[in-house]
This record gives sequence, structure tokens and C-alpha cells, in this order.
Amino acid sequence: MKNAEIIIIGAGISGSVLAERYANSGKKVLIIEKRNHIAGNCYDYIDENGIMVSKYGAHLFHTNFPEVWEYVNRFSEWYPWEHKVLANVEGELVPIPVNITTVNKLFGLSMTREKEMEEWLKDNRKEIEEPANGEEAALAKVGPVLYEKMFKHYTKKQWDKYPHELDASVLNRIPVRTNYDDRYFTDTYQALPKKGYTEIFRNMLDHPNIEVMLNVDYFDIKEQIEGYKKLFYTGPIDRFFDFKHSLKDKLEYRSINFVSETINQVIYQENSVINYAGTEVDFTRIIEYKHFGNQQSEKTTIVREYSTDEGEPYYPVPTQKNQLIYERYKEEADKLLDVYFVGRLANYKYFNMDQAIKNALDLFGSLNQECMALTNSKAL
Ligand SMILES: Cc1cc2nc3c(=O)[nH]c(=O)nc-3n(C[C@H](O)[C@H](O)[C@H](O)COP(=O)(O)OP(=O)(O)OC[C@H]3O[C@@H](n4cnc5c(N)ncnc54)[C@H](O)[C@@H]3O)c2cc1C
Repeated sequence: MKNAEIIIIGAGISGSVLAERYANSGKKVLIIEKRNHIAGNCYDYIDENGIMVSKYGAHLFHTNFPEVWEYVNRFSEWYPWEHKVLANVEGELVPIPVNITTVNKLFGLSMTREKEMEEWLKDNRKEIEEPANGEEAALAKVGPVLYEKMFKHYTKKQWDKYPHELDASVLNRIPVRTNYDDRYFTDTYQALPKKGYTEIFRNMLDHPNIEVMLNVDYFDIKEQIEGYKKLFYTGPIDRFFDFKHSLKDKLEYRSINFVSETINQVIYQENSVINYAGTEVDFTRIIEYKHFGNQQSEKTTIVREYSTDEGEPYYPVPTQKNQLIYERYKEEADKLLDVYFVGRLANYKYFNMDQAIKNALDLFGSLNQECMALTNSKAL
């Protein structure tokens, strides 16, 4: 598509939402994607056991934004799914987030009422008004005994940093329940797409104004791209600037090594996701995909997740040092006219799917308004 006005780097959520919006407003769009598939990290497919699996880790949709829920319903039917997670703590399976059952099981208690759980937390929590790091945040939320058993080593496996090396914001988010609620999320809308996520992206991108080039790295062809009006970049921000601010300290990302195994039995574990809190294994969790949507098959597929520094960048690492490096890149990015940095890697910020969708919709809305204002002023 030689005359595309809109160039988008990356066919993940951010890129695909923008492509769909621009195409439907009459603009020609070219998407350049380096992987051999669309859908970014949401990509899923049917594996050799006939089970729908996600290549880049289980994706559970949840949102409180009605406009995002309305938007995703344009491209797929959904079924309700309230996600639950269990943690293996010293061989005991307990609900995550921490609730009454978690504490009863781990400490041999028999609390039944919210009041008792509130008391337990009050007796255990440390009084730290402004936690300076992740460890202090966890101690203020759950206290030292739960912190040691459930969060300290898991965090180290996940980030290769102990909580005291991470921003308070990382563990500030630990939800704690004083009742029996064992849902992982409490959002108003929680669901999974009936035919998987990739199908949603297919539907979004199926438009005569959209061309998708797969297996092409933008940086290999960027000199050949010209004549566009706007370019949206959804890859890592440091790569865009050729790592110029990373000579001494690199912007850090965490990746995951997904190790898949077919098990010759109907069910392997009692829940879709089981986290392993301790140091007895070096993976963080095991996902058994057939639980999602109660898929039927004689065998089952499980995936062990090992957090690592190498490989595809998935998670920005929330430390002050990284934030400072990111800000240097952001200053450069802000100077560029008609180039927009969208999504998780370009903003060096963890976004859930709904936040990524909302950001892309909002960006399209604001640019469109600017454009309308310009057209109107020209018309005047
Ligand atoms: C393991 C894991 C589990 C998750 N689970 C959940 C969950 O349960 N619920 C939830 O709401 N969210 C979850 N997320 C978050 C969700 O994946 C993100 O919100 C979403 O992927 C963000 O979309 P994006 O478009 O910003 O980025 P991405 O999906 O990363 O898309 C960016 C795309 O750009 C492409 N690209 C990058 N550089 C180039 C280049 N140079 N040239 C061409 N193409 C390029 C990449 O290949 C990629 O396809 C999870 C994420 C991970 C990693």
C-alpha cells in the first residue's frame, strides 16, 4: 500500500485498535509486524491436543470501562469467566488474592467472620505510612508472615529482584480480602472471547483499507517508508532511538520462557492457574489451558512459566533507575511530530488489555478532534 496515510508498527492491541479506527474513518492503513502473526501478545491458537492455548501466557479479559466492553463486543461473542488463581505454598493450595481461606489454611486457623480477618490483618500488618519500596508495601498490606510465605520469593522469581529493590507500587497493588471472595479480579466485566483473541484481531483488521505486512521488522525497512501523515509505533521505546540513552544502564525488561508439555491424562491440576510461591521450583506458575471455557480433550496441555531477562521484552521493570532512563527517551519522543508512541513497550508501562484498548481509542479520539478542528479552521 504505497499511499498509506497511516503507518502502524505492531499488530498487537494498540496497533490494531488504531488501524481499525482509522480504516473505518476512510484512511488507508499499513501495519508492519515483525512476528509471523497478528494479535501481539494476545495471540492464541488451537494446539496439537485440540486445546486453545495462548502463545504468550494466559490472557483474562476484565474491565470497568463500559466503552471498552462495548468496543470488544463488536468483534466477538464472549462468555462470562471469573478467573481464579491458586497458589502452592509449601505444598498447600490456597486462594490468591489472600482471603479468609488463605490465612486459615496457612496458619491452621478457623476464622469465619470478616471481623476476625480484619483483626488478624491488624495484628500482623506493619504500620508504614509511606512505603519506600516493594517490601515495605507488602509488609504494610499483609504483614511479615504472609510476606515471607507468599510474596518474597515469588517476587524474586518474577523480577529477579527482591521486593526491597522494586518500587512500592509493585506490591502496593496486592489485593487482600477480608471475606471468602476468591475471584482474581473484581471488575464489572469479566469474560473470554468465544473463538479466542486472534479471531478478534482478524475481525478488526479485515477491512479493505488495511494492509498487514507480517515478518517485517520496521527497522529493516524504515528508510523506504515515506509519504505518510502519521506513524504509530508500539515497540520498545529504546529500540526506536537505537538505545542511545542505554549505553551505561540499559532499560530493563522481563521476559518469560514458556515451556509447554502434553500430559497424557484428562486433567493435570485442579485450576487453570497455579502459582508456585516458594523456591522449591524455579518456575512461577503452571497454566492448564483446557480449564478456560471447560474445553474437552483426552490429553491436556500445561505450560510452565519461567521469568527471565532474555528474550522478547514483556514487562517493564518498575525501578526508579528505569523510570529515569525512560524519561530521557520520552523527551526525545515528545519532540517528534507525527510519530506517536502507543502501548506497553512504547510507554514503558504495564497495561492490561482494557487499558491498552482505552488508550488507543482515546488517542484516536483526541487526534481526530484536532484534525476536525484544523479542517474547520481551514474552512473558515
Ligand atoms: C504473559 C502476559 C500475560 C498477560 N495477561 C494479561 C491478562 O490476563 N489480562 C490483561 O488484561 N492483560 C494481560 N497482559 C497484557 C496484554 O498482553 C497487553 O495489554 C497487550 O499485549 C498490550 O498491547 P500492545 O499493543 O501495547 O503490545 P503488544 O501486544 O506487545 O504488541 C506490540 C506488537 O509490536 C510488534 N513490534 C515490536 N517491534 C516491532 C518492530 N520493530 N517492527 C515490527 N513490529 C514490531 C510486536 O511483535 C508486537 O506484535 C499480559 C501480558 C503478558 C506478557
